[in-house]
Amino acid sequence: MIENKALIERFLRYVKIDTQSADESEAQPSTAKQHDLAKVLYAELRALGLDAVYDEAHCYVYAVLPGEAPALGFIAHMDTSPAASGKNVCPRVEENYQGGNIILKQGSGGKEAIVLSPAQFPGLLRHRGEDLIVTDGTTLLGADDKAGVAEIMSMLAHYAAHPELPHRTVCVAFTPDEEVGRGTEGFDLESFGAKEAYTVDGGTLGEIEYECFNAAAAKVVVSGRSVHPGSAKNAMLNALNVAMEFHAMLPAAERPEHTEGYDGFWHLDSVNGDVEQAVLRYIVRDHDRAHFEARKQTLTDVAAYLNQKYRAFLGGRNAVELTLRDQYFNMAEGMREHMGLVTRAKDALASLGAEPRVVPIRGGTDGAALTARGVPCPNLCTGGYNFHGRFEYASVQEMETCVRLLIALAAV
Ligand SMILES: [Zn+2]
Repeated sequence: MIENKALIERFLRYVKIDTQSADESEAQPSTAKQHDLAKVLYAELRALGLDAVYDEAHCYVYAVLPGEAPALGFIAHMDTSPAASGKNVCPRVEENYQGGNIILKQGSGGKEAIVLSPAQFPGLLRHRGEDLIVTDGTTLLGADDKAGVAEIMSMLAHYAAHPELPHRTVCVAFTPDEEVGRGTEGFDLESFGAKEAYTVDGGTLGEIEYECFNAAAAKVVVSGRSVHPGSAKNAMLNALNVAMEFHAMLPAAERPEHTEGYDGFWHLDSVNGDVEQAVLRYIVRDHDRAHFEARKQTLTDVAAYLNQKYRAFLGGRNAVELTLRDQYFNMAEGMREHMGLVTRAKDALASLGAEPRVVPIRGGTDGAALTARGVPCPNLCTGGYNFHGRFEYASVQEMETCVRLLIALAAV
């Protein structure tokens, strides 16, 4: 049933190495254990005969396989999400899945069994007849993004074993800390070497992503005036009430919980305060640049309206102070001149019998940051599902198709 044994062995080897990154850490990388995988990958790249570089200071691994045509890059991240444990991952291959429940862990001592069920995850039913790699229900799997790492390594192994096959110069990078938004902090474009690349960090087979959000953070500081509540008439301005008034002026339907696809939103992330001062923190997201600018303008307008309303009351002082900070921009703009990368991926997928589908990313990616630095970088599927949780799984056959996709893209 399993055709590409080496691919699966690689994947199982990588997921057993705990590489969870950490949000609260300021170290580089955020957790030292990411080096454990970096060292393994560096050694394996050298064993394949590649020219590899291990940047120990930043925990990046780069390698080049020289070819006959201009360089093409492939990037995958080594860390796993802080959202679920990545320690003692016990992966298992469920061969020839038939569409029923998969028992991840038997119940014992009054504890219920942990079950991966199509009732809860209907997407499983698309994988009937495939071999699925699952967890033991207590950790994540780490297909995000060790599926991408294993697929890139398998593509390299293929070309290293077949020197007679013509291919482009292939540049690869394995990066830390993608899951905590710091994946390109120490990324060295010169060591990498390619002027165009793909991140191999998506999910569903066939999906190609090259559009992400434009993103900004907003901080709203509301100043009130505290007076004893017993004698507050016409004297108190409660900053908490003004903060709620601010929030109520934003369209309720344009919140994350009511949006999808290309819809943008304002998201209230935190509220802190008392009568004297309240602080609201928002994130603002939109794929469309004009809509994104309009969303920021709405915040500015609401602040101006409330300042107008309460200024006289505060003796000419502003009640609301708004600070806006851009975080990242939609990579689609930087991709416009490089759409050949997307077209070639679509054609390659179609030739492998996988229906190509372009979908917008509702977030940012390492590719967005690299595109902004001049290396256009769309994202490719890996065949992994249910990322960041205990029900994560990957399809062996889809992972094989993803390796063929990378081989086709690197071919001359
Ligand atoms: Zn990922």
